[in-house]
Amino acid sequence: AWGRVKRRLRAELGEDVFASWFARLELEDVSGGVARLTVPTRFLKSWIESHYLDRVLTTFRAEAEGVGRIEVGVRGASAPARPAPTSGKPSPTSGPLTRLHATATQAALQGPGPMVETEIAAPRGEAGTVDLNGAPLDARLTFASFVVGRSNALAHAAAERIARNDGEGALYNPLYVHAGVGLGKTHLLHAAGHAAREAGRRVIYLTADRFMYGFVNALKTQSALAFKEKLRAIDLLILDDVQFIQGKSIQTEFGHTLNALIDSGRQVVVASDRPPTELETLDERVRSRLAGGLVVEIGNLDEGLRTSILSARLAAVRQSHPNFEVSPQVSSYVARAITANGRDLEGAVNRLLAHATLTGAPVTVETAESAIRDLVKNREPKRVKIEDIQKLVASRYNVSRSDILSERRTAAVVKPRQIAMYLSKVLTLRSLPEIGRRFGGRDHTTVLHAVRKIEKQIGEDAVLGDEVELLKRMLQD
Ligand code: ADP
Ligand code: MG
Repeated sequence: AWGRVKRRLRAELGEDVFASWFARLELEDVSGGVARLTVPTRFLKSWIESHYLDRVLTTFRAEAEGVGRIEVGVRGASAPARPAPTSGKPSPTSGPLTRLHATATQAALQGPGPMVETEIAAPRGEAGTVDLNGAPLDARLTFASFVVGRSNALAHAAAERIARNDGEGALYNPLYVHAGVGLGKTHLLHAAGHAAREAGRRVIYLTADRFMYGFVNALKTQSALAFKEKLRAIDLLILDDVQFIQGKSIQTEFGHTLNALIDSGRQVVVASDRPPTELETLDERVRSRLAGGLVVEIGNLDEGLRTSILSARLAAVRQSHPNFEVSPQVSSYVARAITANGRDLEGAVNRLLAHATLTGAPVTVETAESAIRDLVKNREPKRVKIEDIQKLVASRYNVSRSDILSERRTAAVVKPRQIAMYLSKVLTLRSLPEIGRRFGGRDHTTVLHAVRKIEKQIGEDAVLGDEVELLKRMLQD
């Protein structure tokens, strides 16, 4: 049932939200109507408690009757120096769970990274069997529908050459494409897959989820060998969202697969939301193998590219809705307003279409503005105030804001003070001297020291990195 709960959460909340908050949520046990869940950090705990507890409970109930309450605890890893902060009113979930099962202890020893492999949920819509042919390719995502501009020209050219390459052996191998959300990675990968198949080559397209699921499942059903052989008997392996590949034995297996394919001259193409150097949870050897071919980034979509993508989308929609008219003014407004990514552009077109079909009125710039307002607003980075940073960090570490501003130098105060300074540097446009002034009149070198120190520690300590990342998101939320 737990696997289904997670799958449902993922489907309901979307991949991004799920990956941010729930990927490392684990079920400890269910007894007496209480489901005990654990996460690796206190921040995840309080975030889930304050934002998603009802949601988790509802989902849980739908899958397992008789659960009346959810408790979230923190798994063993590196106990905090101070007790977990409690939120004003007493809560039944304030302390970390003390009982640790073998798996939780193991996970703690391994650090916060890897998921326990047996808990990997089936990818959405998967009925429990492994499709050894990989995931189907989306017929819409082709080279023909991919708009090329300055920011994606290199990635496009490389993908196209690879896809159309006939029998010259592998080119840039692997091709590693990275970019933020919605910038066209998946589109490009599917396009390459289509083109290579049309040229008669054997192609497998997998998401990291599918790869992990396929492998774990193959192990369970003792068909691991078949799975591996299948993976290696192809011309082109396409793997999307490699940043999600987790778990030690899965990574090892992934490494073997990569080596086998590349060493025998078969092509590998992967996409990720970050460059190979930032795949922190990935095994070092696998990481360097991934970085060893051609690494290209797709940059942000410039206005010209956004305009072209938008008109392509509009043209596609008009095939099924011939009466749907969008004036050049409205298009240009949308292309200027939505700056983030292709997915939001697509969302905007859907909004406009819904508006037009519901009201029957032509879409004006004004109606467009209100129809896509949330997409626009979401993308404007929120201005963060130093005071808010100090308050949040103080409450998170159970000290007062005046402690942070004071001269006190005990460890319990110094650490949160340095974190707050670091966050002030990265989240606001304030200069170092200005930040120093706002931290009780400190010198700018003190601020610089704090920033460098936290930067370094984040690189070395994944738990701290996680905490700081969560603080950032809470401040920008
Ligand atoms: P990613 O995988 O990088 O998150 P996707 O490939 O899913 O992004 O792209 C998100 C949406 O934007 C898709 O509908 C995709 O077709 C569209 N899109 C992104 N870039 C382009 C492009 N260059 N040309 C046409 N459509 C694009
Ligand atoms: Mg994608």
